[in-house]
Amino acid sequence: MSVKIATKTQVETVLDKYDTFLFDCDGVLWLGNHLLPSVVETLTLLRSHGKKVIFVTNNSTKSRADYVHKFEKFGIKASSDEIFSSSYATAVYVDSILKLPKDKKVWVLGGSGIQDELKLVGYESIGGSDPTYNKELDLDDPESPIYHLDPQVGAVVVGLDTKINYFKSAVTMQYLNNPEIPFLATNIDSTYPHKGLKLPGAGTCVETIACASGRKPLTSCGKPNPSMMDAIVKAHKIDRSRSIMVGDRLNTDMKFGREGGLATLLVLTGIETVQTLNQLEKDVQPTYYSEKLGDLFELLQ
Ligand SMILES: [Mg+2]
Repeated sequence: MSVKIATKTQVETVLDKYDTFLFDCDGVLWLGNHLLPSVVETLTLLRSHGKKVIFVTNNSTKSRADYVHKFEKFGIKASSDEIFSSSYATAVYVDSILKLPKDKKVWVLGGSGIQDELKLVGYESIGGSDPTYNKELDLDDPESPIYHLDPQVGAVVVGLDTKINYFKSAVTMQYLNNPEIPFLATNIDSTYPHKGLKLPGAGTCVETIACASGRKPLTSCGKPNPSMMDAIVKAHKIDRSRSIMVGDRLNTDMKFGREGGLATLLVLTGIETVQTLNQLEKDVQPTYYSEKLGDLFELLQ
């Protein structure tokens, strides 16, 4: 059974047991444009106890540098090396796990966040935000990129592309005709929330390409895939037995933490409720739950 964090002693126990705190962002730190109570104080408290703090988001359209600005707007101090987006997770995967040679290029169907992160680990990417592809596919043009694939492309990455079109999809598919070229997804979320709307997520771009190419992605680098946890552990050299994943979703955040060998803390400020928590089998319940992240700070006062 999950233990509810409701006393000062329980907070002290959590502070004793864990050195690294991984956080989902939306629904944990903020809800849309609204910062949740005592979040800044809790993060400051953890840092003052020497805890490592890592932020884990499935949004691949932004780079870590873009996220630093978002955090600043909320008054949260974070450095780019504390932020793990699926764009960065994908770049680390290509570099550390796929071990793609640095003279190879990556074809990207997705946003500039992916390209920025690939560049930081030393890969040239093509496609992505290149405006060349923001038009109709012209099969009568002998110069069209669809007839001139770059032989240096050694991997294909697909994430959320808000300008996805037939031209880009067709070129992506041509690269995947080569079975030697790995197909990676940044994440496979079917939707993402924005200003009260549910919008098509990265998974819809991935499925378009999977359907056309007849191939499934080798991996999806975002939560809850263990490859993202492997990449975090590798980049930050964390001890899984002394780390805890904090999130508001059972099927991504809590699954990600549990299957990655971490303790888990579910906060009830986002998707889940006590009812959805109680419907879970005991062996997959989070280690802890609390009404909100800020309770860690408030209970200690
Ligand atoms: Mg969330």
